[in-house]
Amino acid sequence: MTRIFSGVKPTGHLTLGNYLGAVRGWAEVDQHRADALFCVVDLHALTVEHDPARVRRLSRQAATLLLASGLDPERCTVFVQSHVDEHARLSYLLECVATDGEMRRMIQYKEKSALERARGGSVRLSLLTYPVLMAADILAYGADEVPVGEDQTQHVELTRDLAVRFNQRYGHTFAVPRATRPEVAARVMDLQDPTSKMGKSHESGAGIVYLLDEPDVVRKKVMRAVTDSGSEVVYDREARPGVANLLEILAACEGGNPEELSGVYESYGALKKDTAEAVVEVLRPVRERHKELVADSVYVEEVLRAGAERARGMARPTVDAAYRAIGL
Ligand code: ADP
Repeated sequence: MTRIFSGVKPTGHLTLGNYLGAVRGWAEVDQHRADALFCVVDLHALTVEHDPARVRRLSRQAATLLLASGLDPERCTVFVQSHVDEHARLSYLLECVATDGEMRRMIQYKEKSALERARGGSVRLSLLTYPVLMAADILAYGADEVPVGEDQTQHVELTRDLAVRFNQRYGHTFAVPRATRPEVAARVMDLQDPTSKMGKSHESGAGIVYLLDEPDVVRKKVMRAVTDSGSEVVYDREARPGVANLLEILAACEGGNPEELSGVYESYGALKKDTAEAVVEVLRPVRERHKELVADSVYVEEVLRAGAERARGMARPTVDAAYRAIGL
């Protein structure tokens, strides 16, 4: 059976980008067709300036939101990365296979390290090695597929390279995974700056729709979205990124194709109004279920405990085999 692994970082509140680009597909498709593991990757939240209590709170919230989004612990494994030691154990071995040159070429490293430096901060070494830990997350489970948004494609490519290299040098140990992503909304853009992705750790929240935003807040954010000069509704990601982003969000929420939808609208206002309502409707059940789950913290705790136990049982044989293969 196909094995799937994917994760979400507790560096901020989950966004509509996380949902449409990843989590919704995990819940609606992936958990039904494969042996799937979904992880709150909390070790990855330590790569930038962080507040310990906030990371802990956000990890719990992210796990609760995964369940609220429809991940069913009877069908898939939901857990927290730091509860399973195998991720860190394997990461070190992969650091001995990766080179510093390939790490420095990672686009996300370049962007995030530049941001840290611009803020006057120092860059943590773990920000550089983060993709190696992500490779360990995936390879420890022998995952065949990694359903992620477009921003993670390069990291999955690196994971493939490391798996192939390790296998060639030390004998076949890892499955070589591939990235899969949704057809629309694989890259949801910031509503205020449609040239950059909607990211949960970005500072301004005005262009970011969070999964737990109240309906009126969602409406306000979508109605205030930056559109492009001109008034004609056309789907063109390069020339009209703001309108294209709204069309993609609408298409992802309602089903359909952004290009065809562009023909339906004569004004930006009408497009925004329908997009806002579509987003409100898509998020409604998630918010409602989240409210119920928050009231049942023992249940969430138990899901994560059982999930970690199951995950550990899957990862340990592969990671042990990697230790033997590399000469330890
Ligand atoms: P973030 O950038 O919000 O911190 P994560 O690294 O936690 O996101 O990613 C969780 C999942 O959500 C990944 O599969 C990622 O590709 C996807 N994702 C994140 N942002 C977006 C976006 N703006 N559009 C589409 N998918 C996204």
